[in-house]
Amino acid sequence: MTNIFGMTLVQLQETLKPYKVPAYRSKQIAEWMYQKGAGSFEAMTNLSKQLRETLAGELVIGRPNIKARLDSKDKKTTKFLLEFDDGTAVETVLMRQSYGNSICVSSQAGCSMGCAFCASTLHGLARDLTTGEILAQAITINDMLRDEEDGQKVDTIVIMGSGEPLMNYENVIGFLHLVHEPYTLNMGYRNITLSTSGIVPQMYLLADEGLPISLSVSLHAPEQALRSALMPINRKYPLTDVIKAAKNYADKTKRRVTYEYILIDQLNDGELQAKQLANLMHGQLASVNLIPINPVVERNLMRPSKERIDWFEHYLSTHHVTVTVRREMGTDIQAACGQLRNKHLSD
Ligand code: SAH
Repeated sequence: MTNIFGMTLVQLQETLKPYKVPAYRSKQIAEWMYQKGAGSFEAMTNLSKQLRETLAGELVIGRPNIKARLDSKDKKTTKFLLEFDDGTAVETVLMRQSYGNSICVSSQAGCSMGCAFCASTLHGLARDLTTGEILAQAITINDMLRDEEDGQKVDTIVIMGSGEPLMNYENVIGFLHLVHEPYTLNMGYRNITLSTSGIVPQMYLLADEGLPISLSVSLHAPEQALRSALMPINRKYPLTDVIKAAKNYADKTKRRVTYEYILIDQLNDGELQAKQLANLMHGQLASVNLIPINPVVERNLMRPSKERIDWFEHYLSTHHVTVTVRREMGTDIQAACGQLRNKHLSD
């Protein structure tokens, strides 16, 4: 049976042609699926009973199962483990921020990047997610907000969950287009952020897509040797090339790039690194987001003291760098990358 969840309206119209479904009906079906939570044709009450039965015999609306749901004590963060038909499970996180409901979606099940500090990569890459599977994460949470939280919706999306989005380029671009459509979430591109470990060729491609999304670059170290030690991908795409590609993105899109910098005690949080980082940022349309590490005890990667974090922030801000420190959400529900999925894999 053909799965129609994840299709664009044009693809849907093409698929429904043999059943003599007129164009406006295809649009209604898309809206049922993407805006009204329909998981079956049965629910689409403005279609004739006969049409519903015919379609149900040949097509499916593939939605993930909510395998687990965890709410933080303060109720601001909710983490979902979503399972697709083949048993593959991914994590999606909802953060109820002051500026709206922000979700963090995964682009791959697992990850092949091998970053030293990241739980998503511990079991390697299981597989890429399809456009529909990335969209399904947003739709599932949007449905929940609408039905259970007074008609609220997803306001912003960060592609910062498990996986390297630029290693799953076509499906991620498909997702960006689809989630923007008026028959899905009608999401403004400016409300979407994509985070990458620095896949240089695809960073150039992305700059030419003409999509005004925000780009975040996972930097984590201000010089080559340390970055290679933390992020093996840096050997293939060195720091200087990543910075060049990020500058190109800012030039082409006129959008400020954010550099993510996880602070790890005694490793990348010293005066030398602060100086190197400030130099690196000089003259860029960019800001730095400092992220106190979620400790990886096995690897002795620990969080710096509050004093060291404050010092690092202060150094940057007094050296002409726009800097923020990421507020923590959901540490009591294993909301850091890949933690919940790993638990699921080992259960
Ligand atoms: N592959 C992409 C997107 C997924 S990782 C990328 O590298 O950007 C996204 C972010 O997760 C990383 O930048 C990092 O900020 C965060 N992250 C991963 N492991 C972490 C940890 N142990 N503590 C804090 N943040 C972490």
